[in-house]
Amino acid sequence: MKTFYAEEQTKHDPKMFLSSGAPQPNPEKPERIARLLEGAKAAGSEIVRPRDHGLKPIATVHTPEYLEFLQNIFLRWQRIEGASEEVIPNIHPLARTGRYPASAVGRAGYHMADTACPISADTWGSACWSAWSAVEAAEAVLAGARHTYALCRPPGHHAFADVAGGFCFLNNSAIAAQHLLKSSKRVAILDIDLHHGNGTQGIFYGRSDVLTVSLHADPVRFYPFFWGNADERGEGLGLGYNYNLPLPRKTADAGFLEALEAANRRIEAYAPDALVVALGLDAFEGDPFGGLSVSTQGFARIAEAISGLGLPTVIIQEGGYLCDALADNLTSFLTGFRH
Ligand SMILES: [Zn+2]
Repeated sequence: MKTFYAEEQTKHDPKMFLSSGAPQPNPEKPERIARLLEGAKAAGSEIVRPRDHGLKPIATVHTPEYLEFLQNIFLRWQRIEGASEEVIPNIHPLARTGRYPASAVGRAGYHMADTACPISADTWGSACWSAWSAVEAAEAVLAGARHTYALCRPPGHHAFADVAGGFCFLNNSAIAAQHLLKSSKRVAILDIDLHHGNGTQGIFYGRSDVLTVSLHADPVRFYPFFWGNADERGEGLGLGYNYNLPLPRKTADAGFLEALEAANRRIEAYAPDALVVALGLDAFEGDPFGGLSVSTQGFARIAEAISGLGLPTVIIQEGGYLCDALADNLTSFLTGFRH
């Protein structure tokens, strides 16, 4: 299985975020890439650089005003006297019933859900290359590869069509799914990150051509708090095409695999032409977020269960933070994916 990745993805280097109101070092560090590359290589994967695919595939998912914001907000922010080094919002519209703001501070609040996605000079470039890794991986599947892996960083599944959040700017899994629709009638996205894929759910909530399924720590006491409950099933044409499986804190391999079985049955019933796996390795028992308790061997069993669906699959990297086993967890998942 090939790995798609470009070194420009390392440049984005966010410094801080607020956790329970307290400033903390941002855990979405460039060093994650070195560990994940090590894990992919140990699985025997060939590392391939994606091409520059331009804005077209990204604009199938994100709005023009949001893409303009991501490209230009850092330059505008620097002109504000006394502003922070990174773009971090401090005011948000409670509901988007007011007008679109003209000011940089207003736009940061409009387009950023939280403080975990600081924007610096390199953010836009790294986010684009991360998205292009996803596009290239989807292209490879369209060209006949059975499975591909995109080492996407920064991650994407908390990004909505026009909102960044939770370390995410461009929704790589959604962009890959949209790209696969070029030659597929139906695509399923299976999100196994520790956190609910709220951005992905939001992007496809009213559609039936992309089934969104997410296993995650119950949002009743966990990020992203406002989404991820079992009764969120889609709306309009999309009603019945969103499936959430919230899990109790510290769920281990057996409980995770049981929920995955239910997720796989739903995907089989949908009968998609292709699958996107939003691969979060932060469900690991030793991950700094500590929400679930999947073991290193558990990731291989999860991969075996997913590959048993027999679908052409694009694996998109989402979360998974610095800990001793990060590389091993990726190796375990990629080697567990049977052909
Ligand atoms: Zn996560």
